[in-house]
Amino acid sequence: TVADPPVRRYGGLKDQDRIFTNVYCKHDHGIKGAMSRGDWHKTKEILLKGDSWIIQSIKDSGLRGRGGAGFPSGLKWSFMNKPNWQQDPRPRYLVVNADEGEPGTCKDREILRGDPHKLVEGCLVAGRGMNASAAYIYVRGEFYQEASHLQQAIDEAYAAGFLGKNACGSGYDFDVYVHRGAGAYICGEETALIESLEGKQGKPRLKPPFPADVGLFGCPTTVANVETVAVAPTICRRGGSWFASFGRERNQGTKLFCISGHVNNPCVIEEEMSIPLKDLIDKHCGGVVGGWDNLLGIIPGGCSVPVLPKDTCAEVLMDFDSLKDAQSGLGTGAVIVMNKSTDIVSAIARFSQFYQHESCGQCTPCREGTTWMSKVMKRLVEGRGHQREIDMLLEITKQIEGRTICALGDAAAWPIQGLMRHFRPEVERRIAEFQAVHGHVGFGGHL
Ligand code: NAD
Ligand code: SF4
Repeated sequence: TVADPPVRRYGGLKDQDRIFTNVYCKHDHGIKGAMSRGDWHKTKEILLKGDSWIIQSIKDSGLRGRGGAGFPSGLKWSFMNKPNWQQDPRPRYLVVNADEGEPGTCKDREILRGDPHKLVEGCLVAGRGMNASAAYIYVRGEFYQEASHLQQAIDEAYAAGFLGKNACGSGYDFDVYVHRGAGAYICGEETALIESLEGKQGKPRLKPPFPADVGLFGCPTTVANVETVAVAPTICRRGGSWFASFGRERNQGTKLFCISGHVNNPCVIEEEMSIPLKDLIDKHCGGVVGGWDNLLGIIPGGCSVPVLPKDTCAEVLMDFDSLKDAQSGLGTGAVIVMNKSTDIVSAIARFSQFYQHESCGQCTPCREGTTWMSKVMKRLVEGRGHQREIDMLLEITKQIEGRTICALGDAAAWPIQGLMRHFRPEVERRIAEFQAVHGHVGFGGHL
């Protein structure tokens, strides 16, 4: 449970403060519709203010990466403008990670479909801040309609003189390219994505060097999430302090949340950071199916973060710090609600199977560990196992955590740790019941 009750400042996001005004694509996603909603307004002025001004605005806004890791965006973007960067002859690139694949996550899809001009304008503004010459947008392979809307927006922006040579009449040259992935979850990891863009197998690289030093084609690169880039123009137009006025210290701004599972109205909604999780579900999703008392647990940030039990769900705020204190994470803001009809062991076993399938296989703890974990979890769903295997399984998760090239290993370990932390009695009960019927099961689960 949360140690101290977090300070709440949530007042409810008003319509005039929503950045994404075309979620669900209810209005025209083309350039006419986008401009009528405020996109491409005074972009030239923003560009003319220069790189330092743009980076400072992002720093002032308190924006943290919306792809899951929550790294401070202003700081990350500033790595591209190291002292004497002008003496470095290499071009610099912005890479937008639109390979949205985290189970439960469907927010970037809404931006690509309904507000693609916000992303394209965001590429230009963020790219100017980093002194990049081009942006590559890596779109998840399955996102066909999304890639089409995005390409349409890019074509329209070129035709209007907003992109290309002398973009928006600012004297700054900037190009945007779309690249479609081919369905591998691991290509959402930033260095695997870079490898894939370069035409190689999508396998993560060791960091450091970070992409800001050696990225795409060996050049300084920033990889940023769709939502992070798409909010940049509005932050520059309305001011960093406006964005920072939402949420609370270190957890500022507005955020797209995607809520799925056992709620009456699953949805994608932009809200203020630090909104209490219960308010988010009651206000926008019509509550939990069967009522709050029927709640079993919630995964608050996509399948890579540990599940929270019901009691904790009533206390936490939807932000980085509150969810970290509760031993989970904000992740991508994908809220998966499970009521008491859920087989929680089976749900986590399904995630384990997912990670086993998506592991790129290049480091042993992840390749072997995800296979072991998936096999053991599959047996534990039926109770076919030994009580000692619970601790053995936890030991495997500890051997994977922090010992792999990329975060997929951690992501595979954490859901199991969360399951055992909060629902261990349920796993023990299944083993005991199975043994009562079938007799003692040997270690390793073989009958
Ligand atoms: P990370 O913490 O390693 O990195 C975050 C960003 O900061 C990266 O861009 C990295 O290059 C940069 N960075 C960190 N330290 C730096 C330094 N010292 N110098 C320069 N740059 C530095 O996390 P990550 O591996 O990028 O992301 C993991 C997260 O991704 C998970 O928390 C998960 O929630 C999320 N995820 C999202 C999706 C999705 O579909 N959006 C899919 C899978 C996972
Ligand atoms: Fe590949 Fe897993 Fe290692 Fe990541 S942690 S590099 S997915 S084997």
